Amino acid sequence: MPVIACVQWRAFVFGCNGRKREKCRQIGTIVCEYFRSLHPRLYRFFLFTVPFFMQRGTIFADLHSHTTASDGAHTPTMLVQRAFERALKAIAVSDHDTVAGVAEARKAAEARGMVFLSGIEISASMTIQGSTQATEREVHILGYNVDEKNAALLHYCVRSEKERQRRAERILARLAELGKKLTLEEVRAISGNGVIGRHHIAIALRNAGIVRTVRQAFDKYLADDAPAAVAKWTFPAAKAIELIHHAGGVAVLAHPGQVVSAEQLEELISCGLDGVEVHHPAHDGMLAQYYQYFTDTRQMLASGGSDYHGGSKRDDSNLGRFGLVQSDFERFYATLQERSAEYKEQAKSKHGSGFQAFDALHSFTDSVQHSVADSLTRFKTFFAQQFSS
Ligand SMILES: [Zn+2]
Ligand SMILES: [Zn+2]
Repeated sequence: MPVIACVQWRAFVFGCNGRKREKCRQIGTIVCEYFRSLHPRLYRFFLFTVPFFMQRGTIFADLHSHTTASDGAHTPTMLVQRAFERALKAIAVSDHDTVAGVAEARKAAEARGMVFLSGIEISASMTIQGSTQATEREVHILGYNVDEKNAALLHYCVRSEKERQRRAERILARLAELGKKLTLEEVRAISGNGVIGRHHIAIALRNAGIVRTVRQAFDKYLADDAPAAVAKWTFPAAKAIELIHHAGGVAVLAHPGQVVSAEQLEELISCGLDGVEVHHPAHDGMLAQYYQYFTDTRQMLASGGSDYHGGSKRDDSNLGRFGLVQSDFERFYATLQERSAEYKEQAKSKHGSGFQAFDALHSFTDSVQHSVADSLTRFKTFFAQQFSS
């Protein structure tokens, strides 16, 4: 009987989010006490069945989310409203290579009494030295507390947007060669004014009846080794970190679990990486604990979020399930404030009031574009289809 109750309770908790989960925790405490009064062994069994996130407590902050400014399904206001409904108290919007959604999200969060952090998720590249040749690997660097009006950051966003549009046009040209015609307008109808990504082209292919699902669009045409693949423009991770610092923010490596090795992580740290995303849907409990330990011992920031894009059941269930509990967020926030102030000070003293924002960018963009375009053996992982665009 107690065993059945445990299993039922666990299943119930797994299916719940936000405020409902808070209620589950209260019920759980009462059930816990009941088992303890019956027998210590039963109590231990009960604890064993408690899911990982329940042991961590209620999620307070989601520091990884996307809006229609990039490839998210919801406007910044809608996203904040959803997070609010899931009882989140703090949120960061981290769109791919743009800060266009930040102002609206900040307004919406402040109106709801939530703590807000500006953010961006920069698609960067790292050169991996293999035994015979070097390859490029894409890594995502999250920037928190960046000044969304910073000239260099905005310059990067504009350049990135242009390169994405160019890439979309080249993908459409390849599709046309394969006899699958789509216009840029059809893709724009899906992406709106946001950044164009492969995800939007995949939806357009599905809407045009060329494929049945978005996944099939990637498998048949858009994945890195598929016939219509076109390499993406990115720039070096070291420069992404530098840019984030220059804009007064801290740099955190997104979903490292399946992207970088221990040596590559060390390389990023030597470039000034401030933190690692510990909690993410792609990290299981063990991996999250490993990165938590790693960040604790290295005095780095530990962040977490759902990588919410919206529009799928899985995403909806992740919102409010992945992120930081209150004590972890408070720690994160205090360090972030300290470092941000430091970086702002450094940027001022380094460049004076008349900082030439564009020089730093012009010097590397073109060389990287070619090295990335030439690399044919780019990694194909779960992330390529699910999280990058
Ligand atoms: Zn993301
Ligand atoms: Zn990402």
